Amino acid sequence: MFMRADSLKLKIINFVLILALFVNWGRPDFLFSGRGIAYKLWQRGMWLVLNYQTKTYETLTSTNFILKYTQADQELAPLILPLAEDYLFKVEKILGIKQKKYRIPLVLYHDEETLNKSFGWSGDKSAVGVYWAGTIRLVSPQAWSEHLVENTSALWATFQREGPLAHELTHLFIDEATKGNYPRWLTEGLAQYVEEEITGFILSEPSVESKAHPYPFASLVSDFDRQPDQFLAYWQSLQAVRNLLEEYGRERLTGLLAELRQGKGFYQAFANNYGLNFAEFEQNLKY
Ligand SMILES: [Zn+2]
Repeated sequence: MFMRADSLKLKIINFVLILALFVNWGRPDFLFSGRGIAYKLWQRGMWLVLNYQTKTYETLTSTNFILKYTQADQELAPLILPLAEDYLFKVEKILGIKQKKYRIPLVLYHDEETLNKSFGWSGDKSAVGVYWAGTIRLVSPQAWSEHLVENTSALWATFQREGPLAHELTHLFIDEATKGNYPRWLTEGLAQYVEEEITGFILSEPSVESKAHPYPFASLVSDFDRQPDQFLAYWQSLQAVRNLLEEYGRERLTGLLAELRQGKGFYQAFANNYGLNFAEFEQNLKY
């Protein structure tokens, strides 16, 4: 087929713009009703957008990752890939699932503002790491630790101890393992569990008063981010996952993830693998 270069270029720009709109709107749920191919296509589209946004960035690759970063992080960037490979191996071991073999896009933004802009976020959201559509986006520790750029070893130590790489990588594993069919609390609980195993990092616990009034899990499914006490939402998710892994073992969890991958509803897949209704589990959950 013959096509003029300009018109092809225009088509690509339009495609990228349409996808950029999706980024601003959030995940388009209608694509997930069909799942499978639509989901993969959407994910590839997000990669295209990310590639376009970071076209002036430096690039480094390893067996399983492609890292994009700015010159301001050129001392730190080469250290990140071996760490990411090590974490990938550890996440696989802890969860007992394998990551598909493609290079995972990893972006190291120099500050939070640029990370937020990559999603069209307005600035009231704050994050030093985000998993999004098969990509991992991190903020350089230069932006969130007190160490200066000259002190690479201190920055590096902070990044390893407090950086969200293990956490975001776990989100990627869960998303891939279930083809995007999972409740938010499950992936947040698993991400915290794995992160603690690998780096020892844990979030601050909510107050005793907060713990006495946990959120219904149904609210964590429908509106995780809008719960007023985010520490409570994250903490509850971790407790539920800890309970599932420590009381029932890893095989049931991998069974649950496998059924979610087939497109089963969460409550059905939960009952099939754990032999009880989720409502019973929630009721008996000890905090
Ligand atoms: Zn998370």
